[in-house]
Amino acid sequence: MNISSKDYSRLQQLDAAHHLHPFTDHKELRAAGSRIVVRGDGPFVYDSEGNEILDAMAGLWCVNIGYGRHELADAAAAQIRELPYYNSFFKCTVPASVKLAARLVELAPDNINQVFFGSSGSESNDTALRLVRHYWALEGKPEKNIVISRENAYHGSTIAGASLGGMKPMHKQLGGAVPNIVHVIAPYAFEGAEPNESDEAFGLRAARAIEEAILAAGPDKVAAFIGEPIMGAGGVRIPPASYWPEVQRICRQYDVLLMLDEVITAYGRTGEWFAAKTFGITPDTITTAKALTSGYQPLSALLVGDRIASTLVEKGGEFYHGYTYSGHPVCCAVALANLDIIDREALINRVRDDTGPYLSEQLYQKLSGHPLVGETRSVGLMGAVEIVRDKASRLRFEPSGHAATKVRDHAIANGLMVRATGDTIIMSPPLIWTRETIDLAMDRLGTALDLAL
Ligand code: PLP
Repeated sequence: MNISSKDYSRLQQLDAAHHLHPFTDHKELRAAGSRIVVRGDGPFVYDSEGNEILDAMAGLWCVNIGYGRHELADAAAAQIRELPYYNSFFKCTVPASVKLAARLVELAPDNINQVFFGSSGSESNDTALRLVRHYWALEGKPEKNIVISRENAYHGSTIAGASLGGMKPMHKQLGGAVPNIVHVIAPYAFEGAEPNESDEAFGLRAARAIEEAILAAGPDKVAAFIGEPIMGAGGVRIPPASYWPEVQRICRQYDVLLMLDEVITAYGRTGEWFAAKTFGITPDTITTAKALTSGYQPLSALLVGDRIASTLVEKGGEFYHGYTYSGHPVCCAVALANLDIIDREALINRVRDDTGPYLSEQLYQKLSGHPLVGETRSVGLMGAVEIVRDKASRLRFEPSGHAATKVRDHAIANGLMVRATGDTIIMSPPLIWTRETIDLAMDRLGTALDLAL
């Protein structure tokens, strides 16, 4: 079949006929038809109808250096010409993956000196889960294998990822989750704090839910706690400042490993290379993906702390785990070029010192007074707007999610790509955004809120 990439109506028909999309109700999709995105340039994407859309989601939290970077295309092309593929099984390696591992270790917290590559965040969380359980087995404590996670966490879509995650609709469709994963409350003060409870007190209470789960299971049964520093897909839920120090204390007290899922937050989003630094956390593993290549190639990197790595190396023998594309040379070459750009253009400092604080201020000044807005919040370039029916009581609209979806649809029609998750509008723009881009986004989101009234 010869189909032109410009025959958009035919592409839409074929899409409806043959293409199963991720996280999609296909009946709804077939009724509406897919938007065909054809091109990207800087902070914008363009659809087949010629609409220019300011992408406040950086694709899916990943295109941190923006679209249209030829340097990455050149890096991929050069690597494909030189060596398109080889693996790191059977005592082989490839230069690009070695260089990337060494580079990541330089950027990571000091206790992290090893990297295990995969192709996606889900795969890396699967690796992380195996690794922490394997670690305790190697330490002679195979019964220490429960992992504590949080309600509404997102850790990916494989069976292990979805089991680690705390999204109930995903659990319902699993047909049996990976056993020994326990979920506790998330530090989401906007909905979780009692009327007279300060955010800080709530943060401590949410952290202590982990301690309660450890004590309920018995500390000798609990392998690890896993958490996103800021819950992303769950609604950019930023924990109170009291939360992470208390989590760290609890993990240390009960000898529970701390696994950070930085698939969204790593590589600059919070104004540091890793949100571990933003929140002062010393994790045993960090899962990363997405912005590692700015989404230009699929690649994930699990950063493994010395405690686990030394046991694995000294006592482990063969680790029966790996992917054909672990350390794929083209993906690693693209990642190196991506990190070069982030460095050279000082994008992380810009987020930390300028655009991050500016986004926070503008969300507050331009949107928080709107009748539909219950709260605005952000860290670095990761922000959320809570949609409510009543500001004082934080009462939501019924049915849940409907009002936020309306705001999102108006925003997209008005040239701004944001996402609605539950009753929250979320954004995670490319790190190349400037103050002017933020102004444009605030104008468009403000109009969308007005139209949704
Ligand atoms: N972990 C977090 C925190 C994520 O946000 C995501 C994806 O959005 C994943 C894991 C899964 O990553 P992937 O979709 O690359 O498998």
